[in-house]
Amino acid sequence: MAGEPQADCLFCKIVAGDVPATLVHETETTVAFRDINPQAPTHVLVIPRAHYADAAALAGADPAVAADIVRAAGLVAEQEGATDSGYRIVFNTGAGAGQTVFHAHAHVLAGRGLNWPPG
Ligand code: IMP
Repeated sequence: MAGEPQADCLFCKIVAGDVPATLVHETETTVAFRDINPQAPTHVLVIPRAHYADAAALAGADPAVAADIVRAAGLVAEQEGATDSGYRIVFNTGAGAGQTVFHAHAHVLAGRGLNWPPG
């Protein structure tokens, strides 16, 4: 069923506490933890507790939780001291765009210059 935990999903296992992660922020609907392969001094992933394959699927099924993700990303950036310097929120969507984990997640990147356009 939509939103239900998937046995083979790495991020569902992190939500369940079955795979360790360095948590930096939690709400009733979201979990944020440090990326295992950071691409910037701050690189945090914000995910919904519920399982959806990507951000668009999440927003279609539960727009309030999609908004919770963006709100949590902003709070993480504030916690990391990045509010003034700026930060980037990225949702890689689809394998062609670099998505490798098919549980919706926002990358929060900060702490270095962020070029545009991204690679
Ligand atoms: P994607 O490529 O946009 O799907 O992002 C997936 C991210 O998950 C990548 O940046 C990975 O480095 C990160 N990642 C994969 N496994 C783990 C883990 O066990 N803990 C934290 N981050 C992870």
